[in-house]
Amino acid sequence: MAIYKDGTQLMQLGNAIFDEEHPPGEPAPRAGIYQCLGCGREVVVAEDAPLPAADHHTHLPLDGTTAWKLLVFADHRPSRRGDPLEE
Ligand SMILES: [Zn+2]
Repeated sequence: MAIYKDGTQLMQLGNAIFDEEHPPGEPAPRAGIYQCLGCGREVVVAEDAPLPAADHHTHLPLDGTTAWKLLVFADHRPSRRGDPLEE
């Protein structure tokens, strides 16, 4: 589970990109935190960088195979402090 301090800096979005499952080595569709669907391990991956390989971490037999799912992605749009559109 991804952990944060200030929930006002996160936005929930019902985008289908969060439902996609990605095999190891596939380019990450967004810069963000990805979770292994087998064991729950989380990693940070830059946009278009390959998702970690299947041997990136150890699985127990009951964990199954490695597949990655996007948990949180970085919003690259500027949001300056004191921005009148933010208040
Ligand atoms: Zn795993």
